[in-house]
Amino acid sequence: MLQCDFAIVGGGLVGSAIAYGLAKSGHRVTVLDEGDIAYRASRGNFGLVWVQGKGQEIPLYSNWSMSSASHWATLAEELLGISGVSVQHHNPGGVHLCYSEEALRVRQAELEGLSHATQGRFEFAMLDHEQLRDLIPEIGEQVTGASWSRWDGHANPLYLLRGLHAGIRHHGGRFVPGGKVQQIRREGQSFVIERPHERIHASRVVLAAGLGNRDLAPQVGLCAPLVPNRGEILVTERVRPLLKLPTTYLRQTGEGSILMGDSHEDVGFNDGTKTPVLAMIAQRAVSALPALKGTRVVRTWGALRVMTPDGYPLYQASQTHPGAFLACCHSGVTLAAAHAQRLAPWIAGAEPPDEIAPFTAERFDVPTSIPA
Ligand SMILES: Cc1cc2nc3c(=O)[nH]c(=O)nc-3n(C[C@H](O)[C@H](O)[C@H](O)COP(=O)(O)OP(=O)(O)OC[C@H]3O[C@@H](n4cnc5c(N)ncnc54)[C@H](O)[C@@H]3O)c2cc1C
Repeated sequence: MLQCDFAIVGGGLVGSAIAYGLAKSGHRVTVLDEGDIAYRASRGNFGLVWVQGKGQEIPLYSNWSMSSASHWATLAEELLGISGVSVQHHNPGGVHLCYSEEALRVRQAELEGLSHATQGRFEFAMLDHEQLRDLIPEIGEQVTGASWSRWDGHANPLYLLRGLHAGIRHHGGRFVPGGKVQQIRREGQSFVIERPHERIHASRVVLAAGLGNRDLAPQVGLCAPLVPNRGEILVTERVRPLLKLPTTYLRQTGEGSILMGDSHEDVGFNDGTKTPVLAMIAQRAVSALPALKGTRVVRTWGALRVMTPDGYPLYQASQTHPGAFLACCHSGVTLAAAHAQRLAPWIAGAEPPDEIAPFTAERFDVPTSIPA
């Protein structure tokens, strides 16, 4: 029987970042991961560390994303020191491309609102075509301009995952793949977590199982109203340097391939691909960067986002089962640094970060009676 201070259910980016933060502070951590048959957003995402445009409805989310972005370089450095592998984190700023004057005006108004709501902390600039060409010399003629923010960057999400797993082990934590957690219950002061042929006793449990949280959360008095949302991505062969900074839908990896994303599809748990969707993504990419025409696509895939009804994260401590926590979000790359360095201390007993106050499931409660 395994025993630990913290059992983290789910070894994707969210669970691994939290586990790394806890292990680094000296806690005995065990990560329990279902493995390769589960839906894993962490292995199929686009790799942006992205701030611009986020938090328009809940500006604290912009602050939370900025906090994470500003902790990212430290996280990348730590993981390099531990694993010897660079997660290829770069923070050259990022651009969101606009294809008409009207789209530029709408974007500017949105980002001005966000800047105002964050007391000017979120900074951005609007670029016309000529200014954008200074940043991306081969930008397509169809692109009217872009919004730019210094907060944005990108990383390799697979190296990030590998680095976090190495970091967990380096700090004495355990990573135990290959078994779905089926049941969690309280027994005295601890939690008993059941996987096939195995029981784990833990003082605290963190549910970070992505879409798997839907079934686990109610077992410890929590609620995870998550839905899958599919995104499809294409990756090209390696090409000469074309993009020195990422855009919302295009980025060049450390190896030189171009990632083209992404779609937002409501297709249930189908994580496959559809040719018309891939064609749309490729066409959009070629209109942004005509040099891509004729470049070979070497791989395509679909992956399922872990989406709440409003797209914002869920961070919650259980009232009925003290010691149980829920963490899920749709920006596990961007927020990895905040999860490791600011969320983990809260789970270990510190005050919660101010920015996460709105992100409990109560925001989805609908009044059951109509006020008179
Ligand atoms: C197409 C696409 C593009 C994206 N682009 C970006 C981006 O550019 N930047 C960004 O920040 N984010 C991006 N995301 C979002 C990001 O990938 C997710 O926020 C993040 O991966 C969520 O991580 P997670 O650990 O919560 O979930 P997952 O990656 O789904 O991991 C959950 C883990 O829990 C395990 N599990 C599930 N159920 C159980 C169980 N019962 N018992 C044990 N283990 C279990 C699974 O095996 C899995 O390993 C993108 C997502 C998609 C799909």
